[in-house]
Amino acid sequence: MTMEQTFVMIKPDGVQRGLVGEIIGRFEKKGFSLKGLKFVNVERDFAEKHYADLSSKPFFGVLVDYIISGPVVAMVWEGSNVVVTGRKIIGATNPADSAPGTIRGDYAIHISRNVIHGSDAVESARKEIALWFPEGPIAWRSAVEPWIYE
Ligand code: GDP
Ligand code: MG
Repeated sequence: MTMEQTFVMIKPDGVQRGLVGEIIGRFEKKGFSLKGLKFVNVERDFAEKHYADLSSKPFFGVLVDYIISGPVVAMVWEGSNVVVTGRKIIGATNPADSAPGTIRGDYAIHISRNVIHGSDAVESARKEIALWFPEGPIAWRSAVEPWIYE
């Protein structure tokens, strides 16, 4: 079994709407392990770096404005297949297409107010964790791990 890490961010709308506890709870109750957590106001340069791959998109400007519009919760979650499973928990990019039961499916309506970010691949997760947590994630082992993995 290979452990992976992913980067998850609760966007400013998720914070403003009081969804922090709910979102953390979904990852926690699934059995994933929290390895990093911070509550931060993001500078424009930093948001542009995080979304650099989307810099040519017509919505890049409004996306950056959105991410810097209020504090965000940045997290590292660890577990087997956490990148792909995390994206399933989050739901499709456009909440109109996100299945009920997913975070975006349950709590969002509009694509540019979709509450949460999750890395889309192991490689982008590695880059995003290095950007947001240059000090590195917290190394610890959950005592319940033997009750989650065979
Ligand atoms: P994600 O990985 O599911 O978050 O989706 P992407 O990486 O493709 O896009 C990053 C973020 O940009 C999304 O979560 C949305 O907040 C925003 N976004 C994506 N597509 C659009 C769009 O067509 N219009 C607007 N306004 N925002 C978009
Ligand atoms: Mg993405």
